Amino acid sequence: MTNQNLVVHDVKSCINTIVEMAVSISNLPMLTSTEVPESLVVLDGIFGKKILKRIDDGGGKGGAKVNAWIDSMRASSPTRTKSSLPVSQDQHLSSWAIHHPSAINMFDQIINKSKDKQIIIFLDYDGTLSPIVADPDKAFMTKKMRATVKDIAKHFPTAIVSGRRRDKVYKFVRLAELYYAGSHGMDIKGPTKSQGSKKGNQAAPFQPASQFLPMINEVYKILLEKTKCVEGAKVENNKFCLSVHFRCVDEKSWGALAEQVRLVLNQYPKLKLTEGRKVLEIRPTIKWDKGKALEFLLRSLGFANSKDVFPIYIGDDRTDEDAFKVLRRRGQGAGILVSKVAKETEASYTLQDPSEVEQFLRRLVDWKRGSNESGRRVE
Ligand SMILES: [Mg+2]
Repeated sequence: MTNQNLVVHDVKSCINTIVEMAVSISNLPMLTSTEVPESLVVLDGIFGKKILKRIDDGGGKGGAKVNAWIDSMRASSPTRTKSSLPVSQDQHLSSWAIHHPSAINMFDQIINKSKDKQIIIFLDYDGTLSPIVADPDKAFMTKKMRATVKDIAKHFPTAIVSGRRRDKVYKFVRLAELYYAGSHGMDIKGPTKSQGSKKGNQAAPFQPASQFLPMINEVYKILLEKTKCVEGAKVENNKFCLSVHFRCVDEKSWGALAEQVRLVLNQYPKLKLTEGRKVLEIRPTIKWDKGKALEFLLRSLGFANSKDVFPIYIGDDRTDEDAFKVLRRRGQGAGILVSKVAKETEASYTLQDPSEVEQFLRRLVDWKRGSNESGRRVE
């Protein structure tokens, strides 16, 4: 195939996508947004003022859904310096900080609560161990962070719980002594290397959504095709779920991209969508999330109904809230939200960014080393 053929194919595919969007818009009374997506302005040039008028009139379920997704992503956006809470609630910011204090400032209190209990560490990856960067394939953690996580795993059972596919998050972290829960916990595997020995758990991974694999692959291919007209859009296959990244998409085009996702998802009622930091995530409708993954791992480690466990879960995104809720319900451990702004959260404590996460984990390592040494002195 010549380059010219490729260009012709791409143009045809883009025109098809635009026509599909136009048909969808003219068939459904939707979009209540006051902000008209750029691509719809293009459509308006092709099909006349009817489309923009329909958007202004609004009121349809599809448009409301797209707007809700975008609002939710904006609220989670790390580039925003303002609180995601309404302006009228700004006066409650100080009270939010009081109710969700810094985990570093409250370190001694957290340690006191964990007294005589087994601490288990659960860590999200993006935005928690690594910064959110424009290209999700380059979300590397620092050497310092990796060394700290390695030290943490020497002292406590440690799991990475990520929306990414398990093999991909492993390539970022490269520590065989950790538990990995990829695809929002839908793909869990124990350490392939135990502390102090090369022998680890060789058991097959736990994959509660394996029957959805063909459907996820099918939707991945369709989304790749449908989103390539939106500049900067990136679709990531996380094995049991998909991510549509908005990080490199101009905010004016967010509506057009979200609309494409909605149109595709309409054809797959067995899949659902959740919003995150500049990302829309598509996953099976099974009742499984990061909270269920946390409970599964606690069960696997022998702490299903134990009072002698103190799980510490650190995460930055909406999907981590399921894990924070589990800790609240169990009345155990510490949920720590990574955020610079006030957000509605079930977490008890906060850390500002990955560098504070590293400081907190390092302090935990130092405390554990200190308490081990003083224990030896007493013996
Ligand atoms: Mg995250």
